[in-house]
Amino acid sequence: MNQPPSVAIIGAGMSGLSAASLLRETGLNVTLFDKSRGSGGRMSSKRTSAGTFDMGTQYFTARDSAFSATVDAWLAAGWVAVWQPRLFRYDEHGLHPSSDDQRRLVGNPRMTALSRALLADTPLHSSTRIEQLQRDRQQWRLVDTEGESHGPFDQIIVAVPPAQAAPLLRAIGSLSGPAERTSMDPGWAVALGFAQPLNVPFDAVFVRSGPLDWIAREASKPGREATQNWVLQSTPAWAAGHLDDSPEQVIQELTQALAEVLGQRLPDLSFQQAHRWLYARPNETSDWGALAAPDQGLFVCGDWCVGGRLEGAWLSGQQAAKALLERL
Ligand SMILES: Cc1cc2nc3c(=O)[nH]c(=O)nc-3n(C[C@H](O)[C@H](O)[C@H](O)COP(=O)(O)OP(=O)(O)OC[C@H]3O[C@@H](n4cnc5c(N)ncnc54)[C@H](O)[C@@H]3O)c2cc1C
Repeated sequence: MNQPPSVAIIGAGMSGLSAASLLRETGLNVTLFDKSRGSGGRMSSKRTSAGTFDMGTQYFTARDSAFSATVDAWLAAGWVAVWQPRLFRYDEHGLHPSSDDQRRLVGNPRMTALSRALLADTPLHSSTRIEQLQRDRQQWRLVDTEGESHGPFDQIIVAVPPAQAAPLLRAIGSLSGPAERTSMDPGWAVALGFAQPLNVPFDAVFVRSGPLDWIAREASKPGREATQNWVLQSTPAWAAGHLDDSPEQVIQELTQALAEVLGQRLPDLSFQQAHRWLYARPNETSDWGALAAPDQGLFVCGDWCVGGRLEGAWLSGQQAAKALLERL
């Protein structure tokens, strides 16, 4: 009996997982590779001694009808839940309520619960950074930074941010242009645990002045532990000017900015940690969908191909998988 085609996907963030789910459903043999210890990419949750913090994606929305239908299935499976924060905005008029009727979703009980569920039993080579793609007799081999060669695979999908996709694609002279032209903004995220509750009337704030961009209370999200944990995220511009600051400096400056937004002295901290995202979000919106060199069995996807959000990553992964299936 003929073997189903084998597909390697480099990157187990939302775009790679989205492609993997669709290809798996159609019976293809899918293997994922990721340089991190697990799946999820920028949809990340950090487990710490003080509890879990969502350090990347804070929540996601669903506008596209296919994505909405998929999200409904995730809701029914309990992989995600609706988050209804008391939302405020901070701008030149100070702090004020800013409610809307947007449906906001989060992984349940943490962001990575969704990536775990999407991964299912797909084989994942974690802590494996792919450094080179080699085409040999109509098939692909992937070489990692330890020099180990994986494969052969009939088709490959590159589902990594543009700065990481560009060198892989440039070396094989295919599809590298869009990745080379796309730049990503950086960001700093800070996890804070307070010894006492913050005395504030909100769960999250869109900050439109100063170094902060976003403030969120972890415990307001469904399924989370009852902690006094908060996440702060910087603006891209502030991060760009503070890329080489130490985590301690960043924690100090962003915590100070939080005190200024709240207009109050903060309780003592029982936990603090900072994470730098060198490639947080694309700095402009593109609409490539996915990139394809079908004759070579090569496809590229990622949030940077569709709009820079979690929904865009899912849509891009679907498009890469569909383009691949069309050419089988
Ligand atoms: C701080 C922050 C806040 C955000 N907030 C939101 C939000 O509130 N709402 C929203 O919708 N979106 C948000 N986003 C964006 C959202 O997280 C992304 O759009 C989405 O997660 C991107 O998925 P992806 O699969 O395209 O890329 P990624 O999640 O980056 O996945 C790529 C994967 O590839 C791996 N990789 C890279 N290079 C290699 C290599 N050479 N070999 C092997 N593996 C490799 C990486 O480890 C990673 O796991 C946020 C992002 C950040 C950073």
